[in-house]
Amino acid sequence: MEHPIKLYNTLTRQKEAFTPLNPPLVGMYVCGPTVYSNVHLGNCRTFISFDMIYRYLTHMGYKVRYVRNITDAGHLENDADSGEDKIAKKARLEQLEPMEIVQRYTLDFRNVMAQFNALPPSIEPTATGHIVEQIEMIEKILDEGLAYEVNGSVYFDVNKYNETDNYGKLSGRNIEELISGTRDLDGQGEKRSPLDFALWKKASPEHIMRWPSPWSIGFPGWHLECSVMSSKYLGEQFDIHGGGMDLKFPHHECEIAQCNAANKVEPVKYWMHTNMLTLNGKRMSKSTGNTLLPEELFTGDNDILDKGFSPTVVRFFMMQAHYASPLDFSNDALVAAEKGFNRLMEGITTLSVISPAKESTFDVNSWKESCYNAMNDDFNTPILIANLFEGIKAINSAKNDKASLTADDIELMRKTLTEFTFDVLGLKLETENSSSDKLNGVVEMLIAMRNEARATKNWALSDKIRDELAELGIQLKDGKDETGFTIN
Ligand SMILES: [Zn+2]
Repeated sequence: MEHPIKLYNTLTRQKEAFTPLNPPLVGMYVCGPTVYSNVHLGNCRTFISFDMIYRYLTHMGYKVRYVRNITDAGHLENDADSGEDKIAKKARLEQLEPMEIVQRYTLDFRNVMAQFNALPPSIEPTATGHIVEQIEMIEKILDEGLAYEVNGSVYFDVNKYNETDNYGKLSGRNIEELISGTRDLDGQGEKRSPLDFALWKKASPEHIMRWPSPWSIGFPGWHLECSVMSSKYLGEQFDIHGGGMDLKFPHHECEIAQCNAANKVEPVKYWMHTNMLTLNGKRMSKSTGNTLLPEELFTGDNDILDKGFSPTVVRFFMMQAHYASPLDFSNDALVAAEKGFNRLMEGITTLSVISPAKESTFDVNSWKESCYNAMNDDFNTPILIANLFEGIKAINSAKNDKASLTADDIELMRKTLTEFTFDVLGLKLETENSSSDKLNGVVEMLIAMRNEARATKNWALSDKIRDELAELGIQLKDGKDETGFTIN
């Protein structure tokens, strides 16, 4: 590969050259949402970051199989295998079937992702669609002697596993510290050690999401689904596993342990984690009201915002930070991002009005090279965007005759700018939308003029407006109170 990519591997804690197991194929798994409420902005950042990574790998010629799951069962309210299933709880509170909750929030999630122009993954498997495979993996782990059954539930034996492997290798925690950090040693009930985690839980009578298994009628532990679905669709070993950094422990640590226990191989070559979002410098939290839904961001319907911002501007704002750095949302930062985004778009349009010169005063080839260098350095989108603006500066200078570009260089800049802006960063030109808004406004105005003509019985003028609009493919429809229209 002409441009080697380096990425930061959480597992080894260093930047490494990206060498896929079976090039040009790349397997990438990202932990998806638990669909029991509207997707929150922090999760959106994770999925938009991996969308950018998916897009760039594809741009570089890799054939990426991108798997992102939907958690539709088994995610309990807290990590210590207790509390209610998040989806079942919401279903109980809203008096709906759990699958109605799943359907509603899966659609909401997909809709928000589409608004952010995130490409759908290659496979979007669900936990409830893979109960059989989850039971099979538990049987394998039991056969290896690394899990045990108590009263119809099955737990992973962390201490036993740690005799031959290293539980904590991803998060950098060690087992003694973890045990001493456990607050409630008495409340473990069935577990041999507080670190053990559930692979299968026997359902209590009120637990409505339940399936038969060799051990009890119950449900799988939350960590299990990702191990099962990643190995089913990407193989026992695959290239990239991603997720938010809050999933590193215990979720991803448990995934590693389950796969090593069942399949006897290290499942993932590169672990990648995205950082968190803050809002006005503070943690987002529903309880303090310091929270913002994607929809509120688009409409401006939240006290912290002066106005709404388009999904593309929000995406651009996110891309201005490195995926592994924290990012703070605020009205002012979004306003600044909107200005920057508009400047980028104007620069790209300006390219088509520059008259070519005999010589270039701007080194387009090395500029293009630095764009690739930025992305190859652990997908550094803020550096890429800074480089794109260097290009925009040269374009604006050429427009004002303070610099010059040859026809070939203009073409190369157009190609490079559009590839990075639209294909890799996943931004969209927004003029299409605004010009259709303008057209609607013009038709509304003509309808108002026609109404005035009709009020003064000027039938010739009112018919003329109707007929000439029809000739343009715009049909007026006179209703009882007002006139509607369709544009073909
Ligand atoms: Zn997961």
